[in-house]
Amino acid sequence: MTTRRIYYDDAFEKEFTARVMYCEVLPPDVNSGITGSVWKLILDRTAFYPTSGGQPNDLGKIGDANVLDVRDEGDEIIHVVDHRPADPEVNGCINWPRRFDHMQQHTGQHLLSAMFQERFGLPTVSFHLGGEICTIDLRGPEPSAEFLEGAERAANQVVFEDRPVNVRYGTADEFAKLGVRKEVDRKGILRAIEIEAADLQPCGGTHVKSTGQIGLTLVRRCTKVRQDWRVEFVCGRRAERAARHDFQLLRQTSEKLSCAPEDLAAAASRAVAERDENFKNCRAMQGRLAEAEATIALQTVPPDGNGFRVVSRVFEGVPVDYLGFFATAFAKSEKAIALLAAAEGGHLRFAQHSSAGKDMSALLKQVLEKFGGKGGGTRDFARGRLIDGSQAEKAVLLARELLPGL
Ligand SMILES: [Zn+2]
Repeated sequence: MTTRRIYYDDAFEKEFTARVMYCEVLPPDVNSGITGSVWKLILDRTAFYPTSGGQPNDLGKIGDANVLDVRDEGDEIIHVVDHRPADPEVNGCINWPRRFDHMQQHTGQHLLSAMFQERFGLPTVSFHLGGEICTIDLRGPEPSAEFLEGAERAANQVVFEDRPVNVRYGTADEFAKLGVRKEVDRKGILRAIEIEAADLQPCGGTHVKSTGQIGLTLVRRCTKVRQDWRVEFVCGRRAERAARHDFQLLRQTSEKLSCAPEDLAAAASRAVAERDENFKNCRAMQGRLAEAEATIALQTVPPDGNGFRVVSRVFEGVPVDYLGFFATAFAKSEKAIALLAAAEGGHLRFAQHSSAGKDMSALLKQVLEKFGGKGGGTRDFARGRLIDGSQAEKAVLLARELLPGL
């Protein structure tokens, strides 16, 4: 059975009639993501495009059945449908917005690939048409920003000239003589797509009739993927959506920064510089405040019988770095020991003056064994974090109790 492919000759045929040649229930296939009973349907002719050559399959209806997948299997096109058609004669109708979108992206890919190759000498090694973004993988040296912009401008120039996109048939030799972009090693009559005076490329996909129908072409990011350069692009309706989305982002961000969209880069630089400056100042102030608080604590905590001055405290509403500043400042005095925790997050900081002769790391370990958590450090300074922050008070109390035994 050979299915006649209507889309080869007319990619704009959205509705068609056909005769059912074969229909059989398919075994469940978890890999395809299709659940429930489905049928394999072969027609004598179809406008449904199967997944191939980087272009996804069409969706739509055959009779009252939904088309869930379309596959290219040799001479036959397999439609996977959710109903068995009641009549041997059926009407098919493809989801046109989806197909036309694919045609815009796919023809745009031919055009962009031609520009990359002819003007900049970078061949396309693969193409992917995704749900949101399309990509071309280029081989060769890294394309610069000017290069990408140049290819985009050249492609759009051909779009604005609205050149015809023709289907041609011929042998590989005949196409080679005509200057085909990528030669193929296949026998027999091949199908090729010609963008007038711009590109000739063997292809079995669906394309628009003239370059104007591709619509605006936008080249987006370029990233390295293995040895190649993956260029993201969008055409037509997708380019319109991308441009609209970009502008909305610019507007929202400029409203946040209270500036015009064109002043965003300068405003963002200023905001980042201010943030960095504030961060630096804030840390310096924390250090000074911690020193002052530690001095007061040293004055109010009397030495015990052995001359140790121990402060044990759970801080609330302070950044975790503040604990470290306070512990370090307090432990600058002879025989001073600080056992600190933060009520939020369960952070612990144990510090001592080396003359105290205890082991803060060992103390922290014992506390964490009891309450659970992670941490470590040296004999004079240890930092950790409890799994359950609500245990901070009890953890500091335990550390205080264990201290004399160390
Ligand atoms: Zn194509």
